[in-house]
Parts: sequence; structure tokens; C-alpha cells
Amino acid sequence: MALMDVTNDTSLTYSELNERANKWSTFFAEKGIEKGDRVTLLASNQKEVFEIMFACGKLGAIFVPLNWRLSVDELNYILEDCNPKLLLYNEKFSETVSHLKNVKNNFALRDIIQSDIRISQPFDILLTETDPWLMIYTGGTTGKPKGVILSHQSIIWNAINTIISWGLTSEEVTLNYLPLFHTGGINALSVPILMNGGTVVIGDQFHAEEAVHYLNKYKCTIALFVPTMYHMMVGTKGFQASTFPSMKVFLSGAAPCPLSIYEKFFAKGLPFKEGYGLTEAGPNNFFISPNDAIWKKGSVGKPMAFNQIKLIKIDGTEAGTDEVGEILIRGKHAFKEYWNNPIETAEAWKDSWLYSGDLGKKDRDGYYYIVGRKKDMIITGGENVYPLEIEHWLCEHPDVDEASVVGLSDEKWGERVTAFIVLKTDRIGKEEELKIHCSQKLAKYKIPKEFVFLQELPKTHVGKIDKKYLKEQYEHNWK
Ligand code: ATP
Repeated sequence: MALMDVTNDTSLTYSELNERANKWSTFFAEKGIEKGDRVTLLASNQKEVFEIMFACGKLGAIFVPLNWRLSVDELNYILEDCNPKLLLYNEKFSETVSHLKNVKNNFALRDIIQSDIRISQPFDILLTETDPWLMIYTGGTTGKPKGVILSHQSIIWNAINTIISWGLTSEEVTLNYLPLFHTGGINALSVPILMNGGTVVIGDQFHAEEAVHYLNKYKCTIALFVPTMYHMMVGTKGFQASTFPSMKVFLSGAAPCPLSIYEKFFAKGLPFKEGYGLTEAGPNNFFISPNDAIWKKGSVGKPMAFNQIKLIKIDGTEAGTDEVGEILIRGKHAFKEYWNNPIETAEAWKDSWLYSGDLGKKDRDGYYYIVGRKKDMIITGGENVYPLEIEHWLCEHPDVDEASVVGLSDEKWGERVTAFIVLKTDRIGKEEELKIHCSQKLAKYKIPKEFVFLQELPKTHVGKIDKKYLKEQYEHNWK
């Protein structure tokens, strides 16, 4: 079985998936879609996302899955940027679609699915491996969304890297709740598994208890969730009661994972690993075996099979053991360019290396650790502070549920280390206690000068803590 859908309990075999993709590509061809044209889709997590993606691949069209959580203005920005020839949408987004500008042709999915399209002969299209296939707009965590163009080559090499390095077989069954308009949902595990004969079980609206239930029901062998989802899952009764006998490994990605989550899995004897990725490169870049993940807790492992990694310090020299440097990536899985954006493309690519904008370090055994985003690094009183180190340590405190550390502008220090905390309890006097906790492990300049206690931390559509929003809100509302 290729695809299963928990929302409506339906499935598709590989030959059905191929047939449906052929039907879509015939429809696209009839609508005048040619190689290089953009086909956008506004849909939930549903089987049609893959049908349409493979249909675009067959025609050489560029598939652009849209984030349905965006506002009309944000969607309009993307539509204006990519100028699609076709917009397909799930009926539940009809209202949104009626407000969109610059939409030349739009069709409700249901109308096409129910129509009697006769599949035409294979298309006579010359495709090369560097032709674009998929365009994903990055989350905009650090700025305006950018269209990351992924070629057939990028997608296939990400799949090859993932299959070889993570040891995927055709027996794999994954449960995917990550949004399919995001690299984590579509490219991290789903497409590699589909290219290798396994099964992708699609979930739409994430519900922790249900996710645990489906992992067992479908006898899943591997799954990728973001830390926020794990955070919710480990607190469920189902998780506590389950031994997940079919699961070979749980993977976390897209954002830093608190070490306390690893512990919950290790305590049950379940393998838990962290991956690191970005839309522009794969996303997958590292691998670590389950055993190594235990003694190298917090590491993302070593570079994947056909992937070169280099760490470059601020002074431009290569980082030595345990030194922090920007992660540079080189490999066929990496993207070529941003859509319509030569300036950002030139920023990302220098000397044939992709500058990830993330900081990492390598230990003496060659295992890599993600230190955080370069843009999030705090410079306080001339010292470099990496928020992730502080966040990890704050989360080790038994009363801390979540922590996010940012630098706020400060006349004296340049930037002031500030911690935003969600507590499990609401005991008073926490600030002093947390300062003492920090002083047990962290140098004085790293200890937050200020603690802000919140009910919850703002998250992006894929569950990453939205630091940009946190900073803005603090400046405007909470001060
Ligand atoms: P934008 O590029 O617009 O800021 P985004 O950050 O959401 O949006 P994605 O490609 O979705 O773009 O996410 C990639 C980023 O996620 C990486 O560059 C890195 O900062 C972060 N990330 C991914 N995996 C990890 C991890 N294991 N630990 C820490 N950070 C991670």
C-alpha cells in the first residue's frame, strides 16, 4: 500500500497512485499546463497532495503546495510571487479562494476527482534532472517567505540519502501529521518512503492521543514529529500505556528537541533520534544510529551518505573540535535557487557551498550538534551566547515546561539575555530559583537577566517557537 488516510479511512496502492497521477496530469495538460508552469494547491493533509505532486513531476510542472494557515494577504503575496497557471483547492478553503487575487484558473479538488477524465498517452516531454519539480515557501521564521525551488535531482537525492543512511526498507510504515506544504511533511520521510515501496499513513489535524493510537493501529515502524508534538504525546495515557512494538525509531526534527523528551522514550527502551534539516537542503542532512543516539544524546549524528558538511567560524576559518561554526552544505540534494530572488540566492550560495544560517559544532568523535540559528545568537557585553544551551538547561528544571531565550536590545549590554518560560506549576519566587539553577551550570554572562513567565509560547505553523513574534510582543505589550 502506498498511501492511507486516517481522516476518511481510505487507501491507495502504488498502481492506483500512478493512475491517479496520470489522471491529474492529463487534466493539467488539457488546461494548458506546460513544463515550468506552477500548479498551486491549497489543501489539507490528504492523498491528493501526492497524486498532484507526482502528476506535476510527469509533466515537468512545478508543484507549489500552499500553507492553508496563512492569511489571505500572505497567500496573495505568494501567488503574486510564483504566478501560478492553476490553483487547486480543497472545498473547505472555497471562502479563502474567493478572496484571493491573481488566480487565473481555480478548481475544487472534488470536482476534478469526480470528473470522468480519460487518461491520455504518456507525455512527450524532455525532462532533465535539474528541472524544477517542487517549490516550497519557507516558513518565514526569519523574514518574508521565499520560494525554495527543488529539482527532480534534489528530491531524488534526498530520498537516496535518506533511504541509505537511515536504512529504510520497503516494509516501512510511517504516520505523517506534519503539514504536507512543509518540507518536513512532504520530503523528510514521506517521499523517500514512497520512492522505496513503503506506506505513508496520512493524518491531518494532529491530536496527541489519536497519533499514539494510529502508530499502534497501523503498526508504524518509523515516524517524524516536531518537538511540540512529542511534548503533547508523552503526556498522554496512550503513550504511557504503549510499548510501540512495531516502531523501529522515533525521529524529531525542524526545531531543537528538549533532552527531557529523549528520556521519556529511552525510559521505555524506544529508540529516539534527532534529525536536522532545512527546506533548501533536502531537508535531511545527518544520520545517527539508535545506539549512538543514546550515548550522544542531543547530537544529530554524522553527515548522510552523499552530503558534505563544513563548519565555518565568523573569521572564515574552519571550526575545530567543539568549536562553533556556521553549517555549510554541499550535495545533489541541495536546492539551486530561490524563486525570483537572485539576491537571497547569492547570499545562500558562496563558493559552491550552501550557507545554512545555522550554527553547529562537532565533537572529537565526529558527531554534530545543532547550536542554533546564527540570527538568534545573542551578543551581550561582547560575549557570544547561544540560546539553545540555556534553553536546554532551563528545561532540565523540574518546574519548567518550555523555555525560549532571546536577546533584547539593551543600552548597557547591547543585548540582554531574556528567558520566556512556561511553568508546569505556578509557584511564586521562580525567578530567583531559576537564576540559581542557571548558575549551577552556566557562565554568569549567559544567565538570563530577565525572566518572563507566559501561559504558552507562540509557535509557527509547524510548531517552532516563534522568536521573532516573542520579541515583537515583548517590546509592544509586556514591557
Ligand atoms: P525561514 O527559513 O523562512 O526562516 P524556517 O526556518 O521555518 O523558515 P525551514 O526550512 O522550515 O525554514 O526550517 C529549517 C530550520 O529549522 C533550520 O535552518 C534550523 O534553524 C531549524 N532546525 C531544523 N532541525 C533542527 C534541529 N534538529 N535543531 C535545531 N534547529 C533545527
